[in-house]
Amino acid sequence: MARRIERIVIHCSDSPNGRTLFTGKPGDKNFTTPLQEIDSWHRVRGFKRLPGWRRVQEPALTSIGYHFLIYVAGAVVSARHVDEIGAHAQGYNASSIGICIIGKDKFTRAQWEALKRLIESLQATYPGVEIVGHRGLPGVTKTCPNFDVAAWLAGGKQPLAGHVLLDESVGSAA
Ligand SMILES: [Zn+2]
Repeated sequence: MARRIERIVIHCSDSPNGRTLFTGKPGDKNFTTPLQEIDSWHRVRGFKRLPGWRRVQEPALTSIGYHFLIYVAGAVVSARHVDEIGAHAQGYNASSIGICIIGKDKFTRAQWEALKRLIESLQATYPGVEIVGHRGLPGVTKTCPNFDVAAWLAGGKQPLAGHVLLDESVGSAA
């Protein structure tokens, strides 16, 4: 059953700029992905996905509250199913989709491009949907996602000045 989606809420992971949130290398025993990392953060906060939705998508993720992550290298990765109610914007979860871009306030060009493509694809699926930053919701005192979503939209979804992470900074924040 498709949910009625009224808004897309953009978040950041509030982790150091350029830190990928991968641990180890693929094949290593301790290898973890950003999906698993953020899932563990949200498990600690007590978020729980419903078993029925885990069967539909990403069964190993017990908690993650977002629907999409945008990795430092620009990959768009699905977490919760778009028709699964998220846990990312109190009071607005029932009718929203949550996107989390990895970083604090500077993002790679690949991330900006991925965000543009993801938002445009969701706008095609949900015509007229509102696009907001987490901090743009009434009553929110957080600064997440630490950039001005309205200005980004008004500028044609181009990377925002002062919020572009240079490639040579990637991975140096570990
Ligand atoms: Zn947020």
